[in-house]
Amino acid sequence: MIELRSDTFTVATAEMRKAMAEAKVGDDVYGEDPTVNLLQQKVAKVFGKEKSLFVPTGTMGNLLAVLSVCDRGDEIITESNMHIFKYEVANIAALASVQIHPLSGVDGKIPLDYIKNAIREDNIHFPKTKMIALENTHNMAGGKVLDKPYIDAVAKLAKKNSLHLHIDGARIFNAQVSLGIPMHKLVENVDSVMVCLSKGLGAPVGSMLVGNDELIAKALKYRKMLGGGMRQWGHSAAAGLMALKEGPENLLKDHQHCKMIGESLSIQPWIKSVDYSTNICRFVVEKEISNKLIRYMEDNKVKIQRTGNFFRIVTHLNITKNDVEKVIKVINDFSKA
Ligand SMILES: *Cc1c(COP(=O)(O)O)cnc(C)c1O
Repeated sequence: MIELRSDTFTVATAEMRKAMAEAKVGDDVYGEDPTVNLLQQKVAKVFGKEKSLFVPTGTMGNLLAVLSVCDRGDEIITESNMHIFKYEVANIAALASVQIHPLSGVDGKIPLDYIKNAIREDNIHFPKTKMIALENTHNMAGGKVLDKPYIDAVAKLAKKNSLHLHIDGARIFNAQVSLGIPMHKLVENVDSVMVCLSKGLGAPVGSMLVGNDELIAKALKYRKMLGGGMRQWGHSAAAGLMALKEGPENLLKDHQHCKMIGESLSIQPWIKSVDYSTNICRFVVEKEISNKLIRYMEDNKVKIQRTGNFFRIVTHLNITKNDVEKVIKVINDFSKA
């Protein structure tokens, strides 16, 4: 099967499994796992921030940022198609007692004046706005990159209003390699970032929350509260270290593969719209052929994600150029079938 539903389907290479088996470990709840400590130091350095914290999932990393910054009844501003708002089981409402104020965006970017107008003034009727959260790359916008000038403009607005700027950077390395600027530059005006090691970078598990000393100290305590205090998980951190070192340089190849598939889709007669950027391609087809398409792809050993008439293809580490050529052939054959 050629697995294109998500970049979370990558499996660890033999070298990664070896590194995991041989990792030096200790009890991380006691702060004594050397491999976890090394990973946390390295990630903080790459992002140019004081500290980072290894967390089981991106969902927990985002929640920890909110818990560490907000009090009950506060509000955070997000774009309305963000993962935090749509796909994290309303954890911010249920567990942090914080309200999300979603605003519509274009290609993942919320217009600055929308943000400005949404920041609450001091009034007995209003919650207090505490945070602005962006997503880079933006999954639902089809892997769109938020560029540095936009992030900096939002950061300036956040600073002026004493707000925390968080980035859900599950795929921020995809943004960084396509912009071609160092990570610490890209996020220099951002207060916290969550990044997944378990997506395009290729680790089997784990995400990081990056920020200053104070934020990470709070997040560490909340991680324990949520049951995320892990023991000898230097075994997982060893995979994370390898993903951090070798993952980013592979992403441009994924982007090239995604572009090839996106271009081939865009010329098919049954396509209504197609949008692709970095490693994510989203497309809509005529309603009548949705079922037929998914079945045809499966019959030809290609797995793609479908929600209604919306389809998603994600390229990743385990997809080769040969796979991409096969996929394009299946797409072309479907038009003839
Ligand atoms: C996958 C993802 C997350 C959450 O990561 P999990 O490890 O699956 O909890 C958060 N944000 C975005 C944009 C994602 O794609």
